[in-house]
Amino acid sequence: MANYNPNLVKIHRNYTYEELAEVFGIHKNTVAQWVKNGLPCLKEQRPFLVLGVEAKAFLQTRRQSSKRKCKHNEFYCVRCKKPVKPAENFVEYVSISPTKGRLTALCECCEGVVNKFVAYTRLDEYEASFDLDKPIGLEHIKDTDSSL
Ligand SMILES: [Zn+2]
Repeated sequence: MANYNPNLVKIHRNYTYEELAEVFGIHKNTVAQWVKNGLPCLKEQRPFLVLGVEAKAFLQTRRQSSKRKCKHNEFYCVRCKKPVKPAENFVEYVSISPTKGRLTALCECCEGVVNKFVAYTRLDEYEASFDLDKPIGLEHIKDTDSSL
């Protein structure tokens, strides 16, 4: 598996498949494949756009997982240099964008903070493996008329 440098992606711009492919000198079908594999992409209009910030996060995660495979219920701990399970199986979801966030937990071995990036739409899968804490603010706040 090729190793693409996530730092080549500018986080403040958006890319079409072609533009993102150009950054790495690859075919745009490879980018389409990334989108299939979970890279978030704006499909409301053509050409489809990939946010730089999401492409970077996607490639960082990919790079990390190519180094050392983490199972679904594991995090990579940089201190222990191995995949670890979250302490107490407790994981918190931190929203980065409407489609994407970060799972944060403590390493069960060294109690250091471990993270991984996930698509919001895949949270349910993680909810099955972890004691997952989703911030209430994630759902749009509806109780504006509750104060009298
Ligand atoms: Zn650790």
